[in-house]
Amino acid sequence: MKIQNSMQPVGFDETFGFLCGPHVECFNSCCRDLNQFLTPYDVLRLARHLEMVTGDFLQTYTMHYPGPETGLPVVSLKPEGQRDKKCPFVTSEGCTVYENRPGSCRMYPLARMLSRSRQTGALTESYVLIYEPHCRGFDQSEGQSVRQWVADQGLNPYNEANDAMIEVISVKQQALPGPLKEELAQKLFKALYDLDAFRHAFAGTVEPDCRKIGLDTDSLLLDDDSALLCFAMKYAAEILQHASSLDSRTK
Ligand code: SF4
Ligand code: SF4
Repeated sequence: MKIQNSMQPVGFDETFGFLCGPHVECFNSCCRDLNQFLTPYDVLRLARHLEMVTGDFLQTYTMHYPGPETGLPVVSLKPEGQRDKKCPFVTSEGCTVYENRPGSCRMYPLARMLSRSRQTGALTESYVLIYEPHCRGFDQSEGQSVRQWVADQGLNPYNEANDAMIEVISVKQQALPGPLKEELAQKLFKALYDLDAFRHAFAGTVEPDCRKIGLDTDSLLLDDDSALLCFAMKYAAEILQHASSLDSRTK
C-alpha cells in the first residue's frame, strides 16, 4: 500500500489495521531522527524504570527550554548521534524501556486531541490516525478499535495525567499569558518534572501552599508518586494564579 503523509479523524469505536513489531521492515526507524517531547508523567515513569531520581534522569537524558507558545518548560529526550539522532533507549532488539515508554510512543499511529466546551468547560477527546510513508505498520491486516488500542497500550494513566497538565496550561494562558519570569519558570519545572526534588522540598514541612491546596504533606508526598504528581499539578496551577494576582496588584 502506498502511503502519503496525512492525518485522518477516527472514531473511538472505529477499527483500523495496524501492527508493529520486529517483523516489520521499518522496525525501530521511528525511534531515530528524534523529536520526542516528554510529559511530567513520562519523566516519572522513565525515571522509575531506570531506578533514577528524577533530577539525575533529567540531567542525563533530557533537554529543556521555555515553550514558544506558553512559556512553560518543555522537556524532550536528548537524541544520540549527530546523524542518527536516535533515542537513547533504542537497541537493535527494540525499546529497552518498553514497559514505561512515553505516552506518545504508545499512542502512535494515533494522536489524541482535546477540545474544551465554552459552555461547560468540559474536555472532549478525539483521535486522528497519522499516516507516514516510512511506517509499514498499516501494511498489516490486523485490526483494532481506538478504544482497544488505548487500553492495550496502557494509555489511560498517561491520558489522565495529560488532562491534568492541560488544566495547568489553561490556567497559565488565562492567568499569565506570555513569557514567564525565570524564577517562576524554574519553580514550575521543579514541581512538574523534577518530582523527587519537589518531594524533598515539601516532605515533612507544612508549607502554606500545601495547606491552601488541602494536602497532608507527611502522608501523601513520601511514597505515592501518582498522588505527588497530582499535587504538583495543583501546586503549579496555584502558584500561577498567585503570581497573576501579585502582577495585577503591582500594575
Ligand atoms: S522510548 Fe522506546 S519506543 Fe519511544 S522512541 Fe525511545 S526507543 Fe522508541
Ligand atoms: S515506523 Fe511504524 S511500523 Fe515501523 S517500527 Fe515505527 S511504529 Fe512500528
